[in-house]
Amino acid sequence: MLRSFFILVILSISLLALDNSGILKRANTYMQTGSKSDQFLAYNDYKNLYLRSIISADEKLRKDSLVGIVKSGKALHIDISQYQDELATFKVKKAYTKPPEKSKNVNKIILKSSHKLKSVSWLNNDKLVLKFNKKLRQNQINYFTLYDEKKKKYRYIFDIHASMLTKSQTLRKDGVKRIVLAQYTPNTLRLVIENSTKLKVRFKRDTKSLTISIITNNNISKSVKKKEVQYIPIDLNKNKNKIIVIDVGHGGRDPGAVGYKNYREKIVVLKIAKHLKSFLLARGYKVYMTRDRDNYIKLSNRTAFANKKSADLFLSIHANAVSKNVHKIKGIESYFLSPSRSKRAESVAAKENKADISDMNIYGKQNFLKFLNHAKTVASHKLAIDLQRGMLGSLNKHYKGVRDGGVREGPFWVLVGAQMPAVLVEVGYITNPSEAKRLVNDNYRKTMARGMANGIERYFRNNRQ
Ligand SMILES: [Zn+2]
Repeated sequence: MLRSFFILVILSISLLALDNSGILKRANTYMQTGSKSDQFLAYNDYKNLYLRSIISADEKLRKDSLVGIVKSGKALHIDISQYQDELATFKVKKAYTKPPEKSKNVNKIILKSSHKLKSVSWLNNDKLVLKFNKKLRQNQINYFTLYDEKKKKYRYIFDIHASMLTKSQTLRKDGVKRIVLAQYTPNTLRLVIENSTKLKVRFKRDTKSLTISIITNNNISKSVKKKEVQYIPIDLNKNKNKIIVIDVGHGGRDPGAVGYKNYREKIVVLKIAKHLKSFLLARGYKVYMTRDRDNYIKLSNRTAFANKKSADLFLSIHANAVSKNVHKIKGIESYFLSPSRSKRAESVAAKENKADISDMNIYGKQNFLKFLNHAKTVASHKLAIDLQRGMLGSLNKHYKGVRDGGVREGPFWVLVGAQMPAVLVEVGYITNPSEAKRLVNDNYRKTMARGMANGIERYFRNNRQ
């Protein structure tokens, strides 16, 4: 079962052997030779660092990698305008957060957003209230979570299309490690809530205010408020030329995970996929499934199918399993491809990477690395965030105690080689009795599929080409 995963680790070792500063140094050295192929290697390194910087919220690395992408991209005549724009906002932001004694710089900043933050206050000690000068729209708020397994950091992030007139602020709350509110870009206000243990974060938009309730582990039982996420319907015609490939995990002689009461992953995921297909068709998308019955398909043929269909998006649906702590471990997780070696990603990938050896030969080292360094990885990360948010938003409206396992990166073979944004969703733990009972309930599956469709719609709306 682990065999294929180890092959993958060997393939990605050249990336993993170096830490961020090592890769940066290597890329900078490549840039000095003046050869086109070295510039290309540098470009790939910078792109990889850029992705890492986003995942680890490392601002310095983000800036360094953007500088590198712009420089190498220009040398290679690659269109790097979007990175250039991002780098520019970075510079503006830097000036903006400078200490007040350099007030001349502060005055020069042009705040573009039409919404201004008027006040920040605590309500009942556990609700943070942000008040704005104008009515807030649903699509002005982007909420997502990040989990850094190595550092044991949970981050709950709100990006709000608005600006604040003061410099960044640190807010305090008992039981929460850090809460920082800052102008992230001229148009985006970012609130980061960080903790070493899980928090329950819920938010409510109310005309001109955003109320965020932060519940620490000690008093999580106090509140089981449902997340309010609304979706704005968009013009169906716009979806008509979008092609989605739903990859239904396992099948035939490969049952996938077998869990509580011998429920099988291959059956659960097919049911969810069928619901998702009908939701997407109803919204005007073109949809293909890698299988719609109980048959076996090689991993490599799944992405090959999506590439052949020129899909805009690839979504692989799976269910998770553990052999120990079955009562404790549950939750929904979304993965995008990366060489991550985090423990959680390793064990999940080991389970999902049950590929034939013949599969391994199709994807050589070059292909794998090429994919990893492609800008699609960043798009896949965004897609994973939207899918995760969509599923939880939909399920929380009707079910209690749905666990957010977060958006994670992992080395999944089934995502390797996809030429479009690709995400693997683990719909829950089939080994957890309470979650397994839900996974065989068709209403629950339908609610989850609706959430996936919402997430896909949100992704296309925010990333129009
Ligand atoms: Zn699976």
